[in-house]
Amino acid sequence: MANRIPAAAIQQYSQEHLREVLNTAGRRLTPQREKVLSLFQNLGLGHHLTADDVHHHLKQAGNRVSLATVYRSLKLLVAMRLLDEGEWQEGLRCYELRQGGGKIHHHMVCMCCDHTEEFVSEVITAASRDMSKVAGFELTEVRLILRGICRRCRQRSKATASTFS
Ligand SMILES: [Zn+2]
Ligand SMILES: [Zn+2]
Repeated sequence: MANRIPAAAIQQYSQEHLREVLNTAGRRLTPQREKVLSLFQNLGLGHHLTADDVHHHLKQAGNRVSLATVYRSLKLLVAMRLLDEGEWQEGLRCYELRQGGGKIHHHMVCMCCDHTEEFVSEVITAASRDMSKVAGFELTEVRLILRGICRRCRQRSKATASTFS
């Protein structure tokens, strides 16, 4: 994982923190980087984009920006803890807006259609904290990816199966 954030920091993350980060890092937030960030902010939480997706969106909006710049901007925004990165889809590095308010969320990914669903589980968070405590481990991140077949794909394969039977 690229960045390690104390659990407490995840809890306290808020719009205020966002503003603070933007102010202190103001000089580093170039217009291009800001465009990348506002793309995620406009889409809202729960959107997972690859660097190619970001590049495509920006180009469609009439921004002349190279893929290399997009990559650099994404890396920096992750370092600034404004975005999260993860390989929610196998072999595909995706980015999403970091969630505030202590909402640690996880991902369920369909192996057939790559559909990604988010979920929040207090049980998983509590269990992770307990296990870390027992092991004397300072918990910095809780991230779980469940892989399987989504409801739609399961229904589709059922429908196909019944056509042939
Ligand atoms: Zn997510
Ligand atoms: Zn699916």
